[in-house]
Amino acid sequence: MTKRQRAKLNREEPEDYLQLPMDTGKKKSLTEEEEQLRKSEVARRRKNQSIQRAEKDKADTINRLLKKQASKAKRAIEDTEETVQKKQPNPKQLNYVHNLNGSRLSIPPAYTIEQVFNNIKRPEPLPTKTCQVEGCSNHRKYTAKKSGKSVCSLEHYKLVEASQ
Ligand SMILES: [Zn+2]
Repeated sequence: MTKRQRAKLNREEPEDYLQLPMDTGKKKSLTEEEEQLRKSEVARRRKNQSIQRAEKDKADTINRLLKKQASKAKRAIEDTEETVQKKQPNPKQLNYVHNLNGSRLSIPPAYTIEQVFNNIKRPEPLPTKTCQVEGCSNHRKYTAKKSGKSVCSLEHYKLVEASQ
């Protein structure tokens, strides 16, 4: 087979295809259909692109917000650390922090929780905290066994118990 023969053989099929669209009317309507298809395809692609763009915008916005939030949280943590550091020189200073993460009260080792909360509440001295002997306002030292009254001294203890 010569080169030319092979080329001719290869050309045979395309030649057959070229002969197909002979009917011009049919060809035109097909082209219109194709044109419509092409148009709707273009429209579809354009719509997809705008959706993609909108989604990208959305993602960008979310990322931006997340970054902002992260840096805000980081700043809050830094602020807290700064506050703690500033207040650390005084070992008897309570540290109260109120931020996005909530409230936090740091109690220095110099105090117990009970001490702190008793101090905050500042309870009125209850009657039982002082001697219950009439005319005596000394601090309670004992609780009388029989009466359950508060007394300041053994002397008043005996007085209270004797009157029972
Ligand atoms: Zn007393």
